[in-house]
Amino acid sequence: MTKAEIIKKGLGFGVDYSETTSCYDANTLGEACGECDASVLRKIGFENANVQDSTRYQ
Ligand SMILES: [Zn+2]
Repeated sequence: MTKAEIIKKGLGFGVDYSETTSCYDANTLGEACGECDASVLRKIGFENANVQDSTRYQ
């Protein structure tokens, strides 16, 4: 599956993406840096899925 497909599937299961992070460098609050590979790929995934990115960024 693509990232976009995974995001859509997760939403179907009721995943709250503001409660998750893919970031390699999240702070103690769980907020993503928005700049590492994982953060960037995740952002692109939300864009490709046409889904509002609810990830919390630092
Ligand atoms: Zn990051």
